[in-house]
Amino acid sequence: MKNFNITKKYFKEIYAFFWCEICQEILSVSIDRNTIEEKLDTGLYMHSYYHTNPLYDSEDPEDHSNNPHTSLIYIDNNHEVRGVRSFFGTEMSSDEMKKGSRIPIVIKEISMMVLQLGMVSQEEFNILKLCDGNNSIENVAEIEKIKQTEIEKIILKLRKKRLINIITRA
Ligand SMILES: [Zn+2]
Repeated sequence: MKNFNITKKYFKEIYAFFWCEICQEILSVSIDRNTIEEKLDTGLYMHSYYHTNPLYDSEDPEDHSNNPHTSLIYIDNNHEVRGVRSFFGTEMSSDEMKKGSRIPIVIKEISMMVLQLGMVSQEEFNILKLCDGNNSIENVAEIEKIKQTEIEKIILKLRKKRLINIITRA
């Protein structure tokens, strides 16, 4: 279920159907296409969806999905859902990452310019967008649907170009 994402596109909006790890349910959210288009300049639009589980099971002691949480939905330039991260509250805390996770972080502000000048490819550009400190290398691979071996190479390349740094979660 982890990678369940379906996007239904309409004229003015899209409906993103996605798996929320916390609710353990498939949820849907409508997102205005104009909003996506406006914020897409960096390759991916991140839609933040703050919610509680509409189907919360109060009988289940393991179910904490009545606590408000955020699903961060990554949408690409085809207006398709690429990946989702869910976490309690409104900010992803470092606790969401496992110890020893390697987290790539952009060192400098990456503008459209680096793409236009051919300093990075579109794929690398999309990956850079995900290196916001909220995603481990594994998360980036999952969202971009890239194999682990492949992502390692790309990350290494971006590091050599001095565009990112990699920190390890202690
Ligand atoms: Zn949820």
